[in-house]
Amino acid sequence: MNVLRHPSEWTKPVGTTVGFVPTMGALHEGHLSLMRKARAECGHVIVSIFVNPTQFGPHEDFQRYPRNEQRDLELCREVGVDTVFAPDVETMYPRRTTVVAVRGVTERWEGAFRPGHFDGVTTVVTKLFHIVQPDRAYFGLKDLQQCAVIRRMVEDLNFPVKLRFCETVREPDGLAMSSRNQYLSPEERQRAALLYRRLTECRDEAASGGSLAASLDRARMALESDGFAVDYVAWVDPVSMEPIDRLQPGSRLIAAVRLGSVRLIDNLGLDVA
Ligand code: AMP
Repeated sequence: MNVLRHPSEWTKPVGTTVGFVPTMGALHEGHLSLMRKARAECGHVIVSIFVNPTQFGPHEDFQRYPRNEQRDLELCREVGVDTVFAPDVETMYPRRTTVVAVRGVTERWEGAFRPGHFDGVTTVVTKLFHIVQPDRAYFGLKDLQQCAVIRRMVEDLNFPVKLRFCETVREPDGLAMSSRNQYLSPEERQRAALLYRRLTECRDEAASGGSLAASLDRARMALESDGFAVDYVAWVDPVSMEPIDRLQPGSRLIAAVRLGSVRLIDNLGLDVA
């Protein structure tokens, strides 16, 4: 496995499909599922590990974000990754004079609660796509709005890449895997599983014909009495990220909550376990 620190070290291999998995490291089974998918579909798998400062707000957790490169590299090796691109911040951002911004689909939900976050995401993904020139890129539906934003960017700016979106990998109690789960105290970790349970209940209630608004009211109340501070819980169209009032195939239930200082996001599809 090659470990590259600088874009100039990468030459795209010819005559094979290059599959790319962008990550911020602190790898877990969710990340590994994307890499395995890429491994199954592509001749060359390249993973980036880069904690991108521009997608963190000034009061967010950039400094304390978990970093463990040695372990990450071992996991990549075990999954059969061919190349890891792990640049430092100076290499990626010698200046910060150009920003790629997607309008519309970024405005609600995460975009509203984390101003500037998606500009950081679309700028770094643009840079990574230009550096790596992947044929396919793999993203997790855990970050549903991020998927919608990248899809829109790729369409609007004609990136020659095929996007693959992969379902969320969960802990046995249902909690969506996330590098940030490490911040949870043991008591918070136990409680965090209730987010998935409340979303499942809400989804099942709506799917069996109940009113969407009533299902959301009940979910919000249940989450609050479980001890979460609720940023949002909503039914959305997964492409536009606009709220919906009638279920369609593909509709998703999204939520963001806070437990102490830890923010959790999750979402469920109508027919997703
Ligand atoms: P991150 O390192 O958090 O930026 O995530 C890198 C990629 O892994 C993103 O496309 C995420 O959506 C995806 N990802 C994160 N957690 C999970 C999960 N539990 N299941 C599937 N994909 C995930």
